[in-house]
Amino acid sequence: MVIYEGKAVFEGVAIGKLSVYKKSEQMVKREKITDVEAEINRYADAREVTIKQLQDLYDKAVKEVGESNAEIFEAHQLMVDDLDYIDSVENIIRTQEVNAEYAVAQTGDNFEKMFLDMEDEYFKGRAADIKDITERIITVLSGGGNSGISTDEPVIVIADDLAPSETVQMDKDKILSFVTVHGSANSHTSILAKTMNIPAIIGCDIPLDDELNGKMAVVDGFEGKVYVDPDEEVLAKKTELLNEELEKKKLLEQLKGKDNVTLDGQHINIYANIGNTKDLALVLENDAGGIGLFRSEFIYLESDDYPTEEHQFAIYRQVAESMAGKKVIIRTLDIGADKQADYFNLPKEENPAMGMRAIRICLTQPEIFKTQLRAILRASAFGKISIMFPMIISVDEVKKIKVIVEEVKQELDSLGLKYDKDIELGIMIETPAAVMMAEELAEEVDFFSIGTNDLTQYTLAIDRQNQTLDDFYDSHHPGLMKMLKMVVDGAHKGGAWAGICGELGSDLTLTKEFLAMGFDELSVSPSRVLPLRKIVLETNVSEYKAQK
Ligand code: PEP
Ligand code: MG
Repeated sequence: MVIYEGKAVFEGVAIGKLSVYKKSEQMVKREKITDVEAEINRYADAREVTIKQLQDLYDKAVKEVGESNAEIFEAHQLMVDDLDYIDSVENIIRTQEVNAEYAVAQTGDNFEKMFLDMEDEYFKGRAADIKDITERIITVLSGGGNSGISTDEPVIVIADDLAPSETVQMDKDKILSFVTVHGSANSHTSILAKTMNIPAIIGCDIPLDDELNGKMAVVDGFEGKVYVDPDEEVLAKKTELLNEELEKKKLLEQLKGKDNVTLDGQHINIYANIGNTKDLALVLENDAGGIGLFRSEFIYLESDDYPTEEHQFAIYRQVAESMAGKKVIIRTLDIGADKQADYFNLPKEENPAMGMRAIRICLTQPEIFKTQLRAILRASAFGKISIMFPMIISVDEVKKIKVIVEEVKQELDSLGLKYDKDIELGIMIETPAAVMMAEELAEEVDFFSIGTNDLTQYTLAIDRQNQTLDDFYDSHHPGLMKMLKMVVDGAHKGGAWAGICGELGSDLTLTKEFLAMGFDELSVSPSRVLPLRKIVLETNVSEYKAQK
């Protein structure tokens, strides 16, 4: 047994096999090539290696799980050799003069969609196989020996660090836990772990050796330790802990359907944060009252080019419809800083966190902004949508945004397209400038939601991505607490409601304080909704205030 240590960013216990995630194996970039024939040959060679890998897997599986269970690897070999698939890849390489990785990824996407659209359940099921072989070929093409986290059973992912654009591509059902060598407590990996309700450890001294692939391990997200090849005693202890955790979750289940009201009658809305439509099930499962933050930029991160109005409309509509009249706050794109999409062609910056990001991109390139606004407004005819704008620093910006929103509404009117004419508009409070202008800003909008992740970063002058500064990152800094109170008071004076959608909103040690400050809403990772409700139900706000 070997024990590695790191910093736990989300509690819980995971027991399973390790999977070493290698960056280069997952990123597919579109690159122009000059020698088409050489690229096609490279693809042919990769097919050969892939088939050999699958044959090895087949042989191994026959020994381990029997012939009928191993058959899948034979079927995959046939798929790699499928003539339609090969024709499509070669055609993309020839006509677009692009690299084989990109052509395979495009073909895989198209075939996967085609299978998913079929009526027959059997063929629908083949979409997952297409995805599997596509990833395998890409991994071979990009020189990787191991196919990332493509696995049949859920695994503990160990990686150097994970960018949002990488985690977004992962099959979430296959992940038991994240363990990263780098990464910070406020990074999107830890946010994702919270959303998925799985333990996560960052800054771990674990080596990223291929040898670790497939080894049994225990991740303890309470003590921040990873036990590789755990001995019987550890395994027994941790299994018991895992069962206790499951038991606690069951108890929280009983809180579903209850109103979020304190012992002395104060009410607060508890909403959930999501990054994509796959998180919707978690929102409903955890009984959130609405969606307080839909990080729409993930739609942009998943795409190779600007997502179209129709594509976005379909997603926003699905979210609005699934929430069936409950509030859905869609944040307009927050690209830049730690969330980069190549096709935006943003110039390299010395200080990306303080650079061209979020609303600044939207105000500089209004066409991108308007496409998104049209999609959101059109979807507002199908549910209860609100729009929220990130990284605001001034009243002037909000006025400019409102002019653009009006223009888009008029366009929709002239086309006879329906939307919610009274759609709520709100802003994120993530900059000290916005805090200081809270009252004036509140007069312009319907609501505020405090992005404490960025507000803390900009207030304490601490890069939220920089792991070495975690010791200085005091999320309870009294200066920050004063700011939160200023924002609630400013909001209420100016006639707006106020919530928190940054990670601090789910800090259960502050729930009573947030209630005392008078927050109207807290939006947290879906898995935190019920633990938060539990504290609200147990709190007497007037007593708490009197004791302070
Ligand atoms: C925040 O800054 O607190 C926030 C919610 O936005 P993000 O984490 O996506 O930057
Ligand atoms: Mg933010």
